[in-house]
Amino acid sequence: MKFNTQLIHGGNSEDQTTGAVSTPVYRSSTFHQHQLGGNPKWEYSRTGNPTRASLEKLIAELEHGVAGFAFSSGSAAIHAVFSLYSQGDHFVVGSDVYGGTFRLINKVLKRFGFEFTVVDMQDLNAVQNAIQDNTVAIYFETPTNPLLQIADIEAIAKIAKKHGVRTIVDNTFATTYNQQPLTLGADIIVHSATKYLGGHSDVVAGLAVTKEQQIAEQLAFLQNSIGSTLGPDDSWLLQRGIKTLGARMRVHQENAAAVVDFLQQDSRIEKIYYPGLADFPGLSVAAKQMKNFGAMISFELKAGLDAKKFVESLQLIDLAESLGGIESLIEVPAVMTHGSIPREIRLKNGIKDELIRLSVGIEDPEDIIADLKQALDQLN
Ligand SMILES: *Cc1c(COP(=O)(O)O)cnc(C)c1O
Repeated sequence: MKFNTQLIHGGNSEDQTTGAVSTPVYRSSTFHQHQLGGNPKWEYSRTGNPTRASLEKLIAELEHGVAGFAFSSGSAAIHAVFSLYSQGDHFVVGSDVYGGTFRLINKVLKRFGFEFTVVDMQDLNAVQNAIQDNTVAIYFETPTNPLLQIADIEAIAKIAKKHGVRTIVDNTFATTYNQQPLTLGADIIVHSATKYLGGHSDVVAGLAVTKEQQIAEQLAFLQNSIGSTLGPDDSWLLQRGIKTLGARMRVHQENAAAVVDFLQQDSRIEKIYYPGLADFPGLSVAAKQMKNFGAMISFELKAGLDAKKFVESLQLIDLAESLGGIESLIEVPAVMTHGSIPREIRLKNGIKDELIRLSVGIEDPEDIIADLKQALDQLN
């Protein structure tokens, strides 16, 4: 089965009991046991729920893993994956990670005795040099949020393997449509399914997939023990979203390319971050490991232009956190998604105060561009 077919027909897409072509929502917390101590398939919905299981099977198939796990948010999925490890374990972490991941690492996991070295994942020597005796995993995003930096998954996984450590990739920005890190050597992937996989800005969810049976068993144990599972209604909604991932991504990306063309020709734009740009540092690696370049664009206005006035002048594009929805969403990372990162660290990582991040939706591209243009016109 090819990818777009699998999106629709993968998982337990047909209900075994009724033949329903849309997996039913099994809104039941517990299940009748026909026999005492009989080891039933379904017993309690935190441990396992048929609706959630269909989604988990689907994401495992799409990402080429042995098992998938659905959580109540991307952050919960990331936390569950870090819970595989223990006090004193050391991680090499990409310097440009989601603000909430940065917060989880610094304000929560460090209190439990986890150690981290932050590294620019574009620099393979730095990755290699950051590995210590107690390193257990390398954790990163590609493309990163919000600078769209590209890390070479295959090369990093090779370094990890050489040192007997695991590779964990946050695949949220690329989506399963563009990139399947487990096939490039990664051991575990996580998603904020709140973004492109859900795709309609109506569900908060997270997913984790691994290709190692032993990790799968540990993750199942942790998912059940920590308990931050995705409910049956949200599992159904997310699986419905995933069915149209391919159709949406094609339009998202077509629109993003049109918006980049427009921004490139506008004299008020100082710099554009988009992996498909001819002079973008990550272009060759992105072209190697991704099917297309995604639909996230970051850009800076020329010095002196008011980013706040610009985003507040937009009429169609929503000023909002999050990304990957059918509607175009815009934000200022320094104030919004990355506000929890101290300013000096943000600046060191290249996230200027006036950086703007745009998640290009699937509206007609002419309307998205006209809105950007009218808001830019208000600036001079
Ligand atoms: C949003 C996001 C997360 C966190 O996911 P939630 O579903 O909001 O908890 C993690 N990683 C990336 C790259 C994200 O964009």
